[in-house]
Parts: sequence; C-alpha cells; structure tokens
Amino acid sequence: MKVVSIAYSNVADSIVKDKEFSPKGKVLKKIERQGKVLLFEFEDELTSISGLGMSGGWRVSSEKIKEKHTHVQIKGLKENGEIIFLAYVDPRRFGNLHHLKKESKLKWLTRLGADVSKPEFTVEYIIDRCKRYPNKEIKPFLLEQNHFAGVGNYMASEMCAHAGILPNRKAGSLTKAECRKLKKATDLVLAGTVNSGGTTFSGGYKDTTGSQGEGVKNLVVFYQQICRLCERTKVLKTTLKGRGTYHCPRCQK
Ligand SMILES: [Zn+2]
Repeated sequence: MKVVSIAYSNVADSIVKDKEFSPKGKVLKKIERQGKVLLFEFEDELTSISGLGMSGGWRVSSEKIKEKHTHVQIKGLKENGEIIFLAYVDPRRFGNLHHLKKESKLKWLTRLGADVSKPEFTVEYIIDRCKRYPNKEIKPFLLEQNHFAGVGNYMASEMCAHAGILPNRKAGSLTKAECRKLKKATDLVLAGTVNSGGTTFSGGYKDTTGSQGEGVKNLVVFYQQICRLCERTKVLKTTLKGRGTYHCPRCQK
C-alpha cells in the first residue's frame, strides 16, 4: 500500500506529543504494528508512532470520517487514484501520536524494549515476545532494541549458543524451557562482559587499547574456530539480516 497524504488535520493537540514533521504531502509507505503501537512509515525515514491508550483506534474509510472524538485525520491518495481517509478516534484521549524523524523514532522505540540487564527482563517477558512475534528469527530478533534493549551482535550469537538454540529458529518455535535457557544465557553473557576487559568492540574484536579484551576469551562461538562449549565442533558463520552470526551445529538445535 502506498498512499500520498494530501491533507492532514489535527484537532486535539493533546494527542500529538511530538511534531518533528507534518505528514502532509508525504508518501505513506506502510503501517506496521509493533507491540502496543502502530508505526506509520512515511518516505524520508519519517515515522508517526501511534499509541492507542485504552480507548483509541484508527478508522479507515473511503469517505471523510465524522465519528465523534476524531482527533487526527489524514486524507490520502492511493496508487490506484482512490481517495482514502485514516482517522484516529479516541473518546478518552489517552492515546498519543508522535511524528518523528529517524533518530528520535529509534530512541522512542528503544524505550519500549526491556533492558536485558535489568530485572524487567524476565523469562515471562521472553515467552511473551516470542509468542507475539512467532515468525521472527531469534538471533536477529534479539538485536531489535525495541524488544531486547542492550543486546549487541556478538551477544546475540553467544546467547543463542549458551541456550542451545539455532540462530535462525523462529521465535514461535521456542519452548518455555528454551526461553528459560535464553534468560540464563543472557545473564551468563552479561556477567562475562562485566567481569572482563571489554567486549564492546567496534569494528575489530579488540578493546580500546588495541589488545584483545578479556571478554573475547569468554566467547564460545562468536569469532571462534572451534566451539568452546563442546570443544570439538567447527563453528559455522552465517549471515542473518545482514549481520555476521556464529553457531555450533552440535550444541545448538
Ligand atoms: Zn559446540
């Protein structure tokens, strides 16, 4: 669906919290749901994030929406020439709308994910995310900061290794026991990071002094030739969603 927004009206300023751009005149490329919010992806990496609160909802119609409590309305032109109206209706005004540029959007979404180093990151949280996003491959999924804040690329491979889960497994296929293992694995990997010289490498896999940080020694698959868990199997390197991914075909199912 591609829609050019030809008119934008906003009746209730209390709903629109951020206005880094106006949707008017922009091409709406897609609408996605992410957790509790809807993302309206416009051209130029502009996004309107809509939190529905308790009573809000979007209406789509070929005619102007005149429902009571309509706060925001976008009139658009579809590719086939049809006119379409998108309207936000919210009787109790608990919802919120943020028109954000890329950087602010990422910051905003990051806030939604549980920080994996904090108590909010629980087994139940992992189970819930996997249930909500069953088709996502687990390793790239772990890198989505809006779901798992604080997970870096090496960490995601390591977490899967310690949990015995293949990186390309669909989130929905993980059992509860595996989600528990993933939580344990996360704590283990985090502990390794905290106690060591630096696994926060940028570019190469060295710390800021140029030497290999202690963290590298704790890695079991990432950047390893042989899996350090079973000590005998060759680590396989693959690419998932554009990121280098390491796993042990023996230890991970
Ligand atoms: Zn192994």
